[in-house]
Amino acid sequence: MNSPELTQAFPSVETTALQGFPADASDAAAITTSRTPTVLFVDQSGQPGGAELCLLPLAGLCAARSEVLLLAEGPFRARLEALGVRVRVSSNTRVAAISKQALRLGWLRAIPGILGQIRAIAAQARQFDVLYLNTQKAFVLGALGKPLHRRPVIWHVHDVMTGEHFGRMQLRIVRWLAKYAADRLVANSRASADALIALTGLPAQAVPVVHNGVDASTFAAVDATDLVALRRRLGLPETACLAGLFGRLAPWKGQHIAIEAMTHLPDVHLVLVGAALFGEDAYALQLRDQAKQLGVADRVHFAGLRDDMPAWMKAMNLILHTSTEAEPFGRVVIEGMAAGRPIVAAAAGGVLEIVRHRENGWLVKPGDVAGYVEAIETLRAEPELAQRLTDQASEDVREHFTLDRYLQQLTQVIAVAKS
Ligand code: UDP
Repeated sequence: MNSPELTQAFPSVETTALQGFPADASDAAAITTSRTPTVLFVDQSGQPGGAELCLLPLAGLCAARSEVLLLAEGPFRARLEALGVRVRVSSNTRVAAISKQALRLGWLRAIPGILGQIRAIAAQARQFDVLYLNTQKAFVLGALGKPLHRRPVIWHVHDVMTGEHFGRMQLRIVRWLAKYAADRLVANSRASADALIALTGLPAQAVPVVHNGVDASTFAAVDATDLVALRRRLGLPETACLAGLFGRLAPWKGQHIAIEAMTHLPDVHLVLVGAALFGEDAYALQLRDQAKQLGVADRVHFAGLRDDMPAWMKAMNLILHTSTEAEPFGRVVIEGMAAGRPIVAAAAGGVLEIVRHRENGWLVKPGDVAGYVEAIETLRAEPELAQRLTDQASEDVREHFTLDRYLQQLTQVIAVAKS
């Protein structure tokens, strides 16, 4: 591979190294030079959510000349360090407790912590050329500190900034900072970009879209020809039809919709891969109760949080995505496509930029239990259709959702921000 765009952005980059994602700092050092911008990445979470898993390969690629500042401790730190990324943590429990919707009075008590974190980010940012803010709280804190650090600010937008997801005050703050403090914005989907454009009134070209990418080779590396052996290794039912649902357990991710669908699909098992990452423990318990009450508990398997998605996805017959609200992007959807399993996804938000109904997957109205049942029954009854969809999906991943393309586009955004 020899990409003119990447060569332009990073003049001395050895682009062939991008084909295999650098496994550690020494590999990353081999593909960066003194002309490559140094970057401080900031992310508010210590948990490996979608935004963090997007940051992981980028921070790994830039490891030799960057650092990640996390605003919370958690297992994400070890995932970064395993790639040779230098990580610092600056956490404050009151700031961490400010939630998406509840940015009301509680935040007043967090003011000292907020000021402390603004200063901590700014002090660190001064050591780098560019400040790359990967989550919304990181953006607010990093952008407010701009007079202190005076570094170009990039905000990677992973959210659909509407009243459906966020409180009014939060939207107001973000609108102001996006307009006046961000030097570069980049959104994970057209849906996220359009919501931000509508919120801020910024011109469309101010919010370019970079879709997530996946490393298809990690999926190809899992041998699923002996499906029974793979399932045995993962502790899954060996011969049943398995529908997998991947993602953190949270009401808007709609795991309850999939459990309800199981009542109409007596010989299908549901595998829920993921955990309550952001304090949604009550919902996780509720899901277990729901499965019991509906009499499907023996066919609903809670696998917990896993980090070997390719194996888990390839162990399934098909993959469900059941979010009830507009998904900002939906990494799980492109991962399922890369795994070569038919995807049944909720038709909203970023997913509409990935899935075309009955072409490379199956779209269902969000929350429509009967729609999921029909999709699963049809795909089981028509294996040729399922095969056609997965063939097209694999091609679409190879064409558009590659890790290489994703890394090239984001390294360019960083290079442009520095210039
Ligand atoms: N994921 C994971 N382990 C799990 C469940 C999910 O690593 O047990 C990953 C999943 O493979 C995907 C990410 O978490 O890469 C979720 O990203 P997505 O965009 O689907 O949702 P988000 O968490 O950003 O809302």
